[in-house]
Amino acid sequence: MNFEIQKIFINRNSIKSSVSEKICSALPHIPIIETENDEFLNEIKAEEIDPVGYGKKVIYITRNEGDFLKKCPGTRKAICCNYYILNLITNCPLDCTYCILQQYLHNNPVIKIFSNIENLFSEVDSALNSWGKQYPLRIGTGELSDSLALDDLTGFSVDLVEYFKNKENVIFELKTKTSNIDNILSIEGAENIVIGWSVNPQNIIDSDEKGSASLDARIDAARKCEKNDYKIAFHFDPLIIYEGCENDYCGVIDKIRSSISPESIAWISIGALRFSEPMKWIMKERFPDSKIIYGEQTLCEDKKYRYIRPLREEIFKKIYTRLKKSYPKVSVYFCMEESYIWKDVAGTLPHCMKETKALF
Ligand code: SF4
Repeated sequence: MNFEIQKIFINRNSIKSSVSEKICSALPHIPIIETENDEFLNEIKAEEIDPVGYGKKVIYITRNEGDFLKKCPGTRKAICCNYYILNLITNCPLDCTYCILQQYLHNNPVIKIFSNIENLFSEVDSALNSWGKQYPLRIGTGELSDSLALDDLTGFSVDLVEYFKNKENVIFELKTKTSNIDNILSIEGAENIVIGWSVNPQNIIDSDEKGSASLDARIDAARKCEKNDYKIAFHFDPLIIYEGCENDYCGVIDKIRSSISPESIAWISIGALRFSEPMKWIMKERFPDSKIIYGEQTLCEDKKYRYIRPLREEIFKKIYTRLKKSYPKVSVYFCMEESYIWKDVAGTLPHCMKETKALF
């Protein structure tokens, strides 16, 4: 682990759960505090100078009384890629400067791990039964946490992969910036199981993705997963624009191409940095050395800052062209981008949900 856990809170509703047992035995020297409610969160918020940073060192094990599965909310006017999200963990021990969780989980700044994952599987069972088998659905973890950062404590990846590899109408993805793949290498991969890596040039990893694995370690982990019969995905997201970035991103593509064969790639996504006004202030305060909010950005209709359109299109075109040259048959899609980006960069637009699904 590239990070440090200092405390474990366990809600009384989860004391005897297998998740608590696993985590506590993996961290035998960490103090454990039993609790009946979430009030300790208020103390953390009141007492810590940087509650978000501190919360990344605190695990809270409790039951999820809400839904585990939801549709990716996308963003207004952007083309939807029809992705469903499973949340077993909220918050993340890594500390990326641009991470939206700093804003979303401001009131819950600890790593919450849900103990009742049996409910997750029954919820997904009923969802799949009601959806039928008309087309493959894409489901993934990795929206409210890195999918594998805590996997050596929870072992969730094994349960998820074993469950989803028998589901004909589902493509399941784990998304990570780590090289924490021991658990998934302990079992056989499958055609419908995708391990996805977010990638950036090493200088961005160094400056803005604290606690993550190096680019080489991510690609090496992808190569090992490929050998174990998993499908691989790469996400150029968030793409950061700076002087010389085209060459750096093309270098990343070349590195990937020299390690991972086209047949093993399920999809590649591209999405440029976007952030809200509150996020801008959080980043300024928590990461004063980061330069990513000082680019040529403008406030868009969805109240998020993005690089100005000509700049975004220019760099997208270069990266898209290089990706298509390296991987002509692989689906490359744009994440949280409006239709004009698809038209101007890819020269085409998925006209309906069915076509978007066909991309995958
Ligand atoms: S890995 Fe993802 S979830 Fe974790 S801090 Fe970075 S952006 Fe946030």
